[in-house]
Amino acid sequence: MPDARILIVEDNLRNRKLICEVLQFQGHTILEAETGEAGVALAREQQPALILMDIRLPGMDGHEALKLLKANASTRHIPIIALTAFAMQGDRERLLGEGFDGYMAKPIDIDEVLEVVERYLGEGANEPS
Ligand code: MN
Repeated sequence: MPDARILIVEDNLRNRKLICEVLQFQGHTILEAETGEAGVALAREQQPALILMDIRLPGMDGHEALKLLKANASTRHIPIIALTAFAMQGDRERLLGEGFDGYMAKPIDIDEVLEVVERYLGEGANEPS
């Protein structure tokens, strides 16, 4: 798997650090944002190959950030994986219907992170569709 730029939008420091360390170890470059606003701005500037997006964020939440990213031609092609609390697992279909490209439940499972990232980067995620 080639080195890719991956954006993590997550306000929980522990989760962010965990995902960050795992993916950096794989050779990826990680961009971090703590708010939806910062995540959208970083995605526009840096054009990551993949975005991992927490749903519950201070200010603009993951739903709003997704909407903005998918409405903008410069970021529409970037796959966005929702990170949601375990209790929200039943919302999987709703999240996918909303436009998220994938879904991961918390607590963070390192093997799942690696598997999901590999899958989405493997699908030519860098090419706009
Ligand atoms: Mn959160």
